[in-house]
Amino acid sequence: MAGTDRGDLTRTAILALLGTVGPLSRTEIARELDLSPASVTQLTRELLGSGMLEELDLKPSRGGRPAQRLGLIGGAGRALGVKVTADHLVIVDVRLDGHVLGSWELAFDPSSPDALDSLALAVETTLAALEEGPALLGVGIGVPGSVDDQAVGTVNAPTLGWQAMPVGERLRRRLNLPVLVENDVNALAAAERLYGRGRTHRDFLVLTIGRGVGAALVADGRVYRGARGGAGEFGHVPVAEDGPLCGCGSRGCLEAFVGSAGLLAAASAKGLPSGPRVSEVRAVDALGRAAAAGDRVAQEVFAEAGAILGRATAGLVNVVDPEVVVVLGEGVAQWPFWQPGFDRAVRAQLMPGRRDISIEVESWDETSWAQGAAALVLATPFDAAGAAGEQGRLVRARLIGATP
Ligand SMILES: [Zn+2]
Repeated sequence: MAGTDRGDLTRTAILALLGTVGPLSRTEIARELDLSPASVTQLTRELLGSGMLEELDLKPSRGGRPAQRLGLIGGAGRALGVKVTADHLVIVDVRLDGHVLGSWELAFDPSSPDALDSLALAVETTLAALEEGPALLGVGIGVPGSVDDQAVGTVNAPTLGWQAMPVGERLRRRLNLPVLVENDVNALAAAERLYGRGRTHRDFLVLTIGRGVGAALVADGRVYRGARGGAGEFGHVPVAEDGPLCGCGSRGCLEAFVGSAGLLAAASAKGLPSGPRVSEVRAVDALGRAAAAGDRVAQEVFAEAGAILGRATAGLVNVVDPEVVVVLGEGVAQWPFWQPGFDRAVRAQLMPGRRDISIEVESWDETSWAQGAAALVLATPFDAAGAAGEQGRLVRARLIGATP
């Protein structure tokens, strides 16, 4: 391996360390990464010079000289994150430290024959309107489907009507920028790994509830993608032999019971009025408002869904043994009504040694999906052996080449 490559990898390791554990002194960096003090001094001088690190406060020390701590500059780079849905796009502009600089929502028709051209145009238009600031490292795209490889980006997404769509290839050619494409739940896990649970845990599970049901598994510090990028299709765990028809074509999948459509079907089977349905998500919001107003039947719909989700979650936890489970997605707005059924069912089915597992429900913002997509790009500089392949090398080159 050439010396410059090794220097690149070591610079990446220093950025990764500071990006995940926070500011450290040069001595601490040398100890953590098993480097000589001289090479830490030289590499951090370069990183300070290129505007990626800054010198912070002096860390008090017992005896000897207080050590100067080094930290990552949040504004050293930015990425655009795009969440693709069946009827619109959400685009966010995010700094290296996760701070959101701007967000946009645009109408989008994935079934149109020129869908990829309109996607590229939406990104180009957003890029043209960006305010001056950090160097753009690349574009991350999150899709509700499976992706062969982040750095290739061929998408299969039945809910978008996409089969073998060359999203990554077309966008890279048109935008002339690094483009990473990933399943949307895996992208959320990438954000959680970079800014959230990944700072303290190497093995955790991300569950999403809302229109669909999804999961992403972070195992030993990496998002587990499976052989073809299809890992995490938790919504299609079979829970009943003759259950309702699922979007995937099978019957009785978890998602067919507890996804938005399943909740609404359960509500109408219990005699709740369905009313004019603008969208499934809004109809579920209305059901949540009824539950909050004390409607026992609406509360029962969520509690029963919670019990089904809880049993399936226990099965998954028993299989993969995560340290913690994080629950995200539009559906967490109604979590207080899912929770009674969920808690009872999940604890009852967990292996005795795991009944105390922490299940953490996070607040949700509609830009969260798109922030996950941006994190695909922003995680790349910290991830020399990561999933981003050749695109990752291009992202790192843009960051290291960036001037303050
Ligand atoms: Zn299914």
